[in-house]
Amino acid sequence: MGKNLYHQVINEKLNNIKSENRYRFFNEFKKNNFSYPLAGWVKDKKEYPVTIWCSNDYLGMSQKKSIIKEAINSIENYGVGSGGTRNISGNHHPIVKLEKELAKLHKKEKALVFSSGYVANESTISSLLNVFENCVVFSDEKNHASIISGIRKSNAQKFVYKHNDMFDLENKLKLVNFDQPKLIVFESVYSMDGSIGNLKGIVKLAKKYNALSYIDEVHAVGMYGKTGAGISEELSLQNDIDIIQGNLAKAYGNFGGYITSNSSICDYIRSTASGFIFTTSIPPCIAEASIEAIKYLKVSNTERNIQKENVDYLKTKLSELRIKFLNNKSHIVPVMINDALKCKQISELLLKQYGHYIQPINYPTVPKNTERLRITPGPMHTKKMINSLVKSLKECIKIYDK
Ligand code: PLP
Repeated sequence: MGKNLYHQVINEKLNNIKSENRYRFFNEFKKNNFSYPLAGWVKDKKEYPVTIWCSNDYLGMSQKKSIIKEAINSIENYGVGSGGTRNISGNHHPIVKLEKELAKLHKKEKALVFSSGYVANESTISSLLNVFENCVVFSDEKNHASIISGIRKSNAQKFVYKHNDMFDLENKLKLVNFDQPKLIVFESVYSMDGSIGNLKGIVKLAKKYNALSYIDEVHAVGMYGKTGAGISEELSLQNDIDIIQGNLAKAYGNFGGYITSNSSICDYIRSTASGFIFTTSIPPCIAEASIEAIKYLKVSNTERNIQKENVDYLKTKLSELRIKFLNNKSHIVPVMINDALKCKQISELLLKQYGHYIQPINYPTVPKNTERLRITPGPMHTKKMINSLVKSLKECIKIYDK
């Protein structure tokens, strides 16, 4: 294939993506002066004031003064980068401290920190599934791309069960010998629908069919449970789930991912998972800032309470104006548009004319024809901002519904 042909093929593929209205355009923002959710939208060398509605910094911890202070102190002590993998000079004291804090949070023996939640899932799941001969994995159909990738990288046989459907999961579990190794992988809060996993049902089936259980609590840590340890804490199921995965980049406002489990599982993953071994460890300042965020959200409900109030208020206002959204019990409010082009157009108009930023969510993040605007109201949004958003959203939807 000549050089030109390579480019031609790539450009054709890109044009296909564009024609399906799923070409990804990244808006550029400046989070100025701790003013989040207000920000500057940077366009054509100018900056326009906008309100951000789709951040995963659910509680605004990325700009909390006490957390920033920890990060600054830590940089002054340790410098910026970690300088190596965990094995080669990157095993800094703050990262070890963070792992102890995480194990304590989830009431597990050990924790392992990874450079992201994605890497934590992909590396742990693929390594774990390859420990056992003839392992079978049962995965919820709505599981995150990182879980799917981890499964694909393993040699395990895979069963995908219908979202949260315990009848379907049990039917699939029944097909496998009781003694054959099994892993059930699921999430606690599904990021695009905001639905909550059936933890009790899965724990029960895992026991009945002799399976290990693995939960992704990325969207739940810091948000749910008495000390912010997630839905597994809220339901007192931490001891019943073998591996709890989470991240530090959403409600904790920092960066990185982790797993917590018993000593032997953590030790095995530590020694075998490529995504843990062959990459630079997280910066010590991020570890110290994360510890501060975890400790703060262990005892403070201030932000969580306002955020819940705002979610309820937004849902009431959307209902009043008959704007369709997926009603769930979580903090994620998906407004359903169900059309890629309309979703993109509404999002653009909302940003350009009304100063509200909600990124359109399209395929492959969600199935085609289920495109949506995913709203995550935080504690810093005001009722006035919510009123303005809902009114503007209604006007934009009306324009493109014609
Ligand atoms: N798991 C779920 C359910 C997610 O939604 C995400 C990212 O949004 C991840 C894992 C990856 O986490 P991170 O952003 O830390 O890589």
